[in-house]
Amino acid sequence: MAELAPYAVTEANSRGRKISETAPKGRSEFQRDRDRIIHSGAFRRLEYKTQVFVNHEGDLFRTRLTHSIEVAQIARSIARRLRLNEDLAEAISLAHDLGHTPFGHAGQDALNVCMKAYGGFEHNLQSLRVVDMLEERYADFDGLNLCFETREGILKHCSADNAALLGELGERFLHDRSPSLEAQISNLADEIAYNNHDVDDGLRSGLIALEQLTAVPLVATHLHTVRRAYPNLPERRVVHETVRRMIDTLVSDLIQQSERNICAGNLAGIEDVRNAPALIAFSAEINEQQRALKKFLRTNLYRHYLVMRMSTKAQRIIGDLFGVFMADSRLLPPQLQSANVQTEPDRARAVADYIAGMTDRYAIREHRRIFAVEEMPVSF
Ligand code: MG
Repeated sequence: MAELAPYAVTEANSRGRKISETAPKGRSEFQRDRDRIIHSGAFRRLEYKTQVFVNHEGDLFRTRLTHSIEVAQIARSIARRLRLNEDLAEAISLAHDLGHTPFGHAGQDALNVCMKAYGGFEHNLQSLRVVDMLEERYADFDGLNLCFETREGILKHCSADNAALLGELGERFLHDRSPSLEAQISNLADEIAYNNHDVDDGLRSGLIALEQLTAVPLVATHLHTVRRAYPNLPERRVVHETVRRMIDTLVSDLIQQSERNICAGNLAGIEDVRNAPALIAFSAEINEQQRALKKFLRTNLYRHYLVMRMSTKAQRIIGDLFGVFMADSRLLPPQLQSANVQTEPDRARAVADYIAGMTDRYAIREHRRIFAVEEMPVSF
């Protein structure tokens, strides 16, 4: 492996773990973080959580688990090319969606509405709660006790109110500073992954058609090239060839533009990264194209009437569950009825943690167990 750049995060310049531990043997601190994330319960539940399509709609659609793996793959490629810490970029990417609610954005919005009087619900902050507190796997601490830089990367966005409560980790949101380049890479690798796989899944679902996408320059360029070079190629393969070329364009552009930005930034070390504006970026042209694709997906896929029907159902499930648990905490599993959730805000947070941790199918089942009159006596 090439030597890391002087502005990469390393074990030597890391701010370390909250609770100090003996150094890992045969792997780096960031590899240990990655391994802890992979062994967590929240990571396994990603398999049954989705962003656009509900988990059981088809076996080939992305789940949050395969999405996270795609993000990690893209982030690692970019980090390696820029001589940054590949293990850290991977760990952040694998953990970035751990706090996601069931039913993707619809679920998240619904839980945020429910939690309005109690400080709201932010999924990035929830991912941090998962790795800092909610995972119960180790004898010596709650959570996974990850390195500062991994936690910093997981907390992509944060409101000023919440940032003020987070100490060192919240500071950058209050003082307009940047996270590590590895965190910036993971953030944009997420965008590259979902924009491209949503095109693929959207086409597979039949909710969008290939011809519609000819209005989107980023897709159209590659689609024309593929069709011209392979006139008889079956459509599914045309889609795959197009999407892989789109990913390649975005990744290559990101690497080139970021190299230019890093060079111009004259970085001597990690503190220079934190004091500079975001340096991992697309070129202006590709940024514009990527934005146009996002807009297309928003209008034609995320707001497709069939997706909206799914979303409204998801929001009702989340709202119903939150309401019923807040009205009568005796319905909660015993571990959530403990002494430290006696005040209303504490109970609301515990209910939000419980709901956020649910998979799509668990939430559907839980709703059925509580609300379906035909399910009498109560089934488990
Ligand atoms: Mg994501």
